Amino acid sequence: MISIARPLLGEEEQVAVAKVIESGLIASGKEVHSFEGEFAEYCGVKHAIAASSGTTALELALRGVGISPGDKVVTTSYSFIATANAIIYCGGIPVFVDIEDKSFNLIPEQVENELKKDASIKAILIVHLFGQPCDMNKILGIAKKYNVKLIEDCAQAHGAEIAGRRVGSFGDAAAFSFYPTKNMTTGEGGMVVTNSDRIADKVKMYINHGMRTRYYHEVIGYNYRMTNIAAAIGLCQLKKLESFNAARRKNAAFYFEKINNDKLILPENVEGHVYHQFTIRVLENKRDELVKLLEEKGIGYGIFYPLSMPEQSCYREYHFKQEYENTDLIKTQVLSIPIHPALTREELRYVVDALNLF
Ligand SMILES: *Cc1c(COP(=O)(O)O)cnc(C)c1O
Repeated sequence: MISIARPLLGEEEQVAVAKVIESGLIASGKEVHSFEGEFAEYCGVKHAIAASSGTTALELALRGVGISPGDKVVTTSYSFIATANAIIYCGGIPVFVDIEDKSFNLIPEQVENELKKDASIKAILIVHLFGQPCDMNKILGIAKKYNVKLIEDCAQAHGAEIAGRRVGSFGDAAAFSFYPTKNMTTGEGGMVVTNSDRIADKVKMYINHGMRTRYYHEVIGYNYRMTNIAAAIGLCQLKKLESFNAARRKNAAFYFEKINNDKLILPENVEGHVYHQFTIRVLENKRDELVKLLEEKGIGYGIFYPLSMPEQSCYREYHFKQEYENTDLIKTQVLSIPIHPALTREELRYVVDALNLF
């Protein structure tokens, strides 16, 4: 069986975790601070604040830029549900826009249309989906023109870049996830990054029950802290991230070169992509057929995602607009195939053969 994702944890992580356990200081402390410092440096930003998950990091980033009850936030119709949920946790209201059929990322022109129509919109929350950076030239221009906050969901895009500038450094704040299927992992975990002292200060308060001074609570905060055990793993994984991403890119290059089938559309082959997923589109309504073939051959796959976010039944009471032209087609076509760094050349060939035979 070739799995769709495999976290790569080795002896370095085992030794680092054992050290933390021996120290007895397993909650947030020295390792968390080191991880924050190194992650900020990696992204090219001033501050990084470690959180308990990507979801809590995203909520903290939104709270940090000031999203509060009733605030509207433009975002993509197509992402993992955490993107929209984070807005809702803050009392905000997502305003969904359609995606580009090539990049699977939100359409900048549609973001601008929404901002033009409704001057009360406070922010844009973009997602660099599957590891491909959004069109930051356009999006930064729009955020500036309409004077709204910009938040990046980088949960699938650690190390992705545009012209040498890493994602997470473009917006007012950004969030990363370290769930085991992501480009690097800490088990569960997340990170907020920002260049703003004020936002960093707010996030540090919210993450720790609204305290600056112990037991003096200035705002109603949360316990969204990361543990030293997770941070020790994160420090090791961060050192390996560049090699993980290089392996993902090499695997993608192999697929681009070898997959040859009219019934399949491959993802965009762009620089700066970190291929969290390698997501193909299956034409002619044949996805079920291909799924059956992959199952027979023992090849793991993923359908990210079968539904748009606005049509999820958890949001039924919100009565979001339901129709998004590209999303509604693409959700019926997408299929992600194994791309993770642990794949062997032999396994890649086996996947290619199956797809070309189809
Ligand atoms: C994984 C993911 C999240 C949430 O991260 P968790 O660490 O699982 O909470 C948020 N947004 C996107 C796009 C994701 O893929």
